[in-house]
Amino acid sequence: MLPGQQIDPLSSPRFSQIATFARLPIIRDLNGVKALFVGIPFDDGTTFRTGSRFGPRAVREASRLLRRYNPFLDVMPFEKLGMIDYGDVDVVPGYIEDTYGKVQTALTPVFSVDIVPIVCGGDHSISLPVLRAASKRHGKLALVHYDAHSDCWDEFFGKKYNHGTAFKRALDEQLIDASRSIHIGLRGSVYDGSDMKNLREMGFSIVTMKESADIGVDEVSKRIREVARGYTYVSLDIDAVDPAYAPGTGVPEVGGFTSREILELVRALEGLAVIGFDLVEVSPLYDSSEITALLASNLIYEFCSALAKSRQ
Ligand code: MN
Ligand code: MN
Repeated sequence: MLPGQQIDPLSSPRFSQIATFARLPIIRDLNGVKALFVGIPFDDGTTFRTGSRFGPRAVREASRLLRRYNPFLDVMPFEKLGMIDYGDVDVVPGYIEDTYGKVQTALTPVFSVDIVPIVCGGDHSISLPVLRAASKRHGKLALVHYDAHSDCWDEFFGKKYNHGTAFKRALDEQLIDASRSIHIGLRGSVYDGSDMKNLREMGFSIVTMKESADIGVDEVSKRIREVARGYTYVSLDIDAVDPAYAPGTGVPEVGGFTSREILELVRALEGLAVIGFDLVEVSPLYDSSEITALLASNLIYEFCSALAKSRQ
């Protein structure tokens, strides 16, 4: 099969065949490819519930219902992007820095030919090595970050690398430019009153969940497009969504986005110069009826559609 071609569901039923993302071909050759799905099944950066190492498998399984045409954005994303399933990065369970090395090695050749990787985690610690590879190619990046948490803390348990520190490290390593970066969906209890102040002092733009509810999703979308100028990396932690819509995750926070709101917020990326995307923290063991995995697969689909539209 060629890049961008899904197995035909009218000759081979959707419940058959081996689960690849959206029933796209699993290919390692990058010829003719503009975007690829890749799993990073690593969850040893988790500080609370584990299980997101099973995220890529669950998302592939739930993605079988994705059809080729997106009527909301009027595009056939997979064909347009010559999309493939690139398989998974071989991580080293229990060893975060070795895994970081593996991720960077795997993704450097992808970025070097300007293919957009659509990364499926894994916990949020995996964004750092992806950003390292991305920044090597594209320089300092703008960041659009959907998450209940900022993931900009300095350390946990005296350690610098885990899923709560990824963007503080990215800032320290000058992979991202805070003045072109925005955190969306922040909420819940934090360690002390200086949390938000620290984020603003680092130079980030912020839209808390409360502000988003007050101004509405269209206004938040406008804010995203104002802030994210130049080459942009997008990171979506599924816990940005309310646990009622996305229960299968590691660190749930109540009072988040609905499924419909987060779909809109991802569609808002159309027209931005996005060079990489990740969706992380899907933990199927805490899911029920595949709600979370199904949402995650559809968010990836909307991202692919927005990306394909931007390339037209
Ligand atoms: Mn989070
Ligand atoms: Mn996160």
